[in-house]
Amino acid sequence: MKKNLPDLEIPEDLLSRLIEHARQEYPLESCGILAGKNGKITKLYSMENTHKSSFCYLMAPEEQLRVFQEIEEDGLELSAIYHSHPHSPAIPSQRDVDSAFYPDSIILIISLMEDKVPQIGAFQIEEGKFEKKTVKVNKDK
Ligand SMILES: [Zn+2]
Repeated sequence: MKKNLPDLEIPEDLLSRLIEHARQEYPLESCGILAGKNGKITKLYSMENTHKSSFCYLMAPEEQLRVFQEIEEDGLELSAIYHSHPHSPAIPSQRDVDSAFYPDSIILIISLMEDKVPQIGAFQIEEGKFEKKTVKVNKDK
């Protein structure tokens, strides 16, 4: 990896919203954007999966651009792009590896494969390889 991205820190309420979003979209993939600073997430944008698919996701380009602009105006960084895996584990698929267009942001995956215990995986993906990052959940804000 050219540069080592910071591990993620996410407040518990945002993590709950992530999981809730994934469950709402099930059996389709949910997707969205997480913003913060230096890996500390402070904002969640749930986005529409324009592919409406169980196997892939695509955010509407104009909506995505708007969110990127807002993040910049707020002085935050694009910490992670998230999506759910309704039927597979929380590890990047070949498609995820091939379509990681933002090497400076982490790819966060929520797996609903085991319905009762959603799994979270965070990865830095670069040039066809991925590396697991840790996700720390903050109980107090
Ligand atoms: Zn995926």
